[in-house]
Amino acid sequence: MSKNVIIGGAWPYANSSVHIGHLVALLPADFLARYHRKIGDNVIYVSGTDCHGTPITLKAKKEKKSPKEISDYYHEEFVKAFNAMDFSYDLYTQTEDEYHKQKVQQLFRKMYDNGYIIEKEEPQPYCDNCGKFLADRELILTCPSCGKETKGEGCDCGYIPTPEDLKNAKCQECGKQVIEKNNKNLYIALPKLQPFVEKYYNENKNAWRKNGQNETLKYLKQGLIDRAVTRDLEWGIDIPVEGYENKKMYVWIDAVLGYLTASMKYCEEHGLNWEDYWKGDNSLIYMVHGKDNIIFHSIILPALYFALEDNMRSPDKIVSCEYLNINDEKMSKSKGNGITILDLTSEFATDSIRYYFINNGPENKDSNFSIEDFKRVHNADLVNKFGNFINRTLKFKGLEKIEVAEKDEEVVEKIEETYKKVSEHIDKLEFKKAIETMMELVEYGNKYYDEMKPWVLYKENQEKFKKVIYNCALIIANLANVFEPVMPGTIQKLKNYLKIDNLGWGFVDLNRDIVLENIEPVFEKIQ
Ligand SMILES: [Zn+2]
Ligand SMILES: [Zn+2]
Repeated sequence: MSKNVIIGGAWPYANSSVHIGHLVALLPADFLARYHRKIGDNVIYVSGTDCHGTPITLKAKKEKKSPKEISDYYHEEFVKAFNAMDFSYDLYTQTEDEYHKQKVQQLFRKMYDNGYIIEKEEPQPYCDNCGKFLADRELILTCPSCGKETKGEGCDCGYIPTPEDLKNAKCQECGKQVIEKNNKNLYIALPKLQPFVEKYYNENKNAWRKNGQNETLKYLKQGLIDRAVTRDLEWGIDIPVEGYENKKMYVWIDAVLGYLTASMKYCEEHGLNWEDYWKGDNSLIYMVHGKDNIIFHSIILPALYFALEDNMRSPDKIVSCEYLNINDEKMSKSKGNGITILDLTSEFATDSIRYYFINNGPENKDSNFSIEDFKRVHNADLVNKFGNFINRTLKFKGLEKIEVAEKDEEVVEKIEETYKKVSEHIDKLEFKKAIETMMELVEYGNKYYDEMKPWVLYKENQEKFKKVIYNCALIIANLANVFEPVMPGTIQKLKNYLKIDNLGWGFVDLNRDIVLENIEPVFEKIQ
């Protein structure tokens, strides 16, 4: 029976370009969306641009623009980058979207009315000169660990300033020493929600990546603390509670609710009921993101859902990747060694990039990227193995059509087994192994070809030649099918060559002769 599947790709933050570190975290979401559509599930794949918060206001100030201009600029760039990667979002929206803002306010109000959002007064850094409360990243201080000047949110050396350190901090904007002043804010009462989150964790963790389990457990063991949901800022979503007219919502609560609001919007526009997806037993919910985002999906989102007291279904699968290094170095702004998605897609084919990163991304441990390795993998796997098998079959000299012939039982078995194994790996979030299994079928095809020697049969035994070529074409048709979620553009070409379309998940039969026309190599060697 087909399931209702939500796939939530992490929301990139609109203050700098999306680079390949984002790409490796987000790409598995598109792979999953395409796979689940193929097996016949009802998929809603959503994401959007995270537009609010201090870093954007700071950047706007620096560039003498409005925060909206900054977030619009990056939103547009993100859309371009994701289109270039062939991401098949059902809805890619942004937190500045009016629908989102309205829904988030309703959800916030519900949690407040349910008693999970509470008021607290606590001392906070305040600049008398600028007349405002400051966030950690708006503070500067001398790092007690390395002696260099650092922002209050954390030093490049890895040191995180304590509240005690921050008492000596200065205002980043005017340089004046800050004071402490009591500030009233709303907090989400996470300690009250911890028992629900723990139960959820214990029931679901086995379907998560290991880093997702470990990171979540670490926070649960420490014990959750009340977390501020309002702050003194002019850029963000208004607080739907009296007395908080001058404050805005913290971005984390605004953005993490975006999976839900985006699905609601999509459902409204397509005559669907969002509750069929976010409630009940016939759903499957994936959250796909990088290692630094885990607890927002494994703790915060479930906590908010329990606070809504509305029988919401929390994420079933936490798909969290590790870090990607470049040329054996950590990617960082100060090193300037990041490669943006648009840089990469302007130089290389989208499907090669997709293949490379699903297969060589930081799935369970940090991985390294270099242009040399990318070229090597492309040429070795796609050109010399996959491309070669396609060419030597479909571009066989003198062959004009593939005629239906008897199926080789062993070939059929190998194909059937491939579908089964690929599905098992995807269920276990082992995408690398899923691709390795697909590649095994490519290698099987090449080996079959070598052993059957169609170039000899062509001259000596036409009947047997036709059978071998037909079975090779069968393998190609099924390779096209299993590889479709990985390389959708390239596979479309192959489907056109073989005149097959609308494939479900399972054995693709070729039961008509296929006239071979205008066959071009689908992969080109990179020099
Ligand atoms: Zn100041
Ligand atoms: Zn330091």
